[in-house]
Amino acid sequence: MVFAVGRVFVITGPSGVGKGTLIRSLMREMPELALAVSATTRHPRPGERDGVDYHFLSDAEFDARIAAQDFVEHACYSGRRYGTLRSELESRLASGVPVVLEIEVQGARQIRHSMPEAVQVFIAPPSLHSLRERLKGRGTDDEAEVARRLQVAEAEIEAKDEFAHVIVNDELSDAEEQLKRLVRDTIAAGGGLD
Ligand code: 5GP
Repeated sequence: MVFAVGRVFVITGPSGVGKGTLIRSLMREMPELALAVSATTRHPRPGERDGVDYHFLSDAEFDARIAAQDFVEHACYSGRRYGTLRSELESRLASGVPVVLEIEVQGARQIRHSMPEAVQVFIAPPSLHSLRERLKGRGTDDEAEVARRLQVAEAEIEAKDEFAHVIVNDELSDAEEQLKRLVRDTIAAGGGLD
C-alpha cells in the first residue's frame, strides 16, 4: 500500500440492515468522502449500473484480479464473490481523501488485519425479526436468497463485538446521526492517520 494520508471507514453488518441507506445519507452530508465501488460476480439487479453500483465481473475475471493482487480484501458471500479493488483506495488515500467501504464481515476482518488504522463500524439490526422483515420488504432477493442471507446474518451479528463501533439501526435518523458524528469527529481529530 502506498503512503496514505486519508482515512478508511469500513461499514459492515448483515445484508438488509440499512448500510447502503446510511452511507448514502452520510455521503450527502459529507461529499468530500469517496465510496469505493466493489467488484462482484453476482448478477446486476434491475437498475444497477456497472462501474457505479459495482464492477460486475465474471468468475474468470475475478480470479484474474485475485492473481494480479488487485484486491485489498475479497470474500465469498451467499455463493457469489465480492471484493474491494486496490485501485478504489490507493490514489484517494494518497491525496488525503477519506474512503468508505461497504462490505460484509469476512472482508472487514481482512481489512482489520491489513489496515488496523481503518475505522470499523458494525451496523446492527434491532432484532433478527426486523432484519427478516426488511430483507423481505425490499424485494431485491427471492425467498431462497432471503433465507440464505438471514442464515449468514445470524453469524455476522454474533461477530459484532469484534468491532470498535456498533450502531443499532432502529430509528433511522438516530443511526444516521451517530454515523455522521463518528465520521466527522474522527476526521476532525486526526485529519489523516494517527
Ligand atoms: P449485495 O449482493 O446485497 O449487494 O451485497 C451482499 C453483501 O456483500 C453485503 O453485505 C455487502 O455489504 C457485501 N459487499 C459488497 N461489496 C463488498 C466487497 O467489496 N467486499 C466484501 N467483503 N463484501 C462486500
